[in-house]
Amino acid sequence: MTKIPQFPNIKAIIFDYGNTLIAFGRAQVDEFDRRLGKAIESHYGTFDRARYTAHRNADRMAPYAGDPPAYRESDPVEMTAALIRDLYVREARADELAALLEARRAAFIAVVEAEPAVAALLAALRKRFKLGLLSNYPDGLAIRKSMDRMRLTTHFDSVVVSGDLGLVKPHPDTFAASLRELGTSPEETLFVGDNWLADVQGAKRAGMPMVHFTRWAPPEHFEPQPGDAAPDATISRLEELLPLLGPDEEGSA
Ligand SMILES: [Mg+2]
Repeated sequence: MTKIPQFPNIKAIIFDYGNTLIAFGRAQVDEFDRRLGKAIESHYGTFDRARYTAHRNADRMAPYAGDPPAYRESDPVEMTAALIRDLYVREARADELAALLEARRAAFIAVVEAEPAVAALLAALRKRFKLGLLSNYPDGLAIRKSMDRMRLTTHFDSVVVSGDLGLVKPHPDTFAASLRELGTSPEETLFVGDNWLADVQGAKRAGMPMVHFTRWAPPEHFEPQPGDAAPDATISRLEELLPLLGPDEEGSA
């Protein structure tokens, strides 16, 4: 059966990062929390693991809290200060906050890994499309340094992180910032991401064609709500993007 390309006229593709280009599921989250917890424990001595875990779980959902949610991204320094306040009922000194922020960043960079096929796919797509990355993460530098380590940065025309904007997807300003950097319209820009609220609803509300990537289950899970938009396509392997995009200039799909 020949597949009819669903998105033959797009000029740019914007990818989500966690659970789209890299796995960031329970295993990675737990390992991140273990590393950050170890840094805190080695600094302060005692450590209430249950309280730490509860605090970290609340941190992850904070941007989506409220009715209606503000979709504000957390500041990593304030997050760390609040965590220390909760665990030790004291204010962390500036030098302690700086050290823990560095530990937080190092933990993230250590736990993320892109499969070699990702770079190969991005290189192939870059010959035909502008490529952007739009990620929800409080620490923009952690995202950028992890991309540098995996040699992914050079494949992108634009990298936008929620931590740099102070807002998370699905807030429309995040998609607008990414489109502005790419210089393309929503209609000619395909979005690829895993998260039902942040990516599927965010991209559709921004007027973009959207591919839902379902290979990994995101830890921040959102149930579909009445009136939600559906993705234009659903894939479970990134390679499945290629036949949806139509033939390249040489005529091979
Ligand atoms: Mg994601």
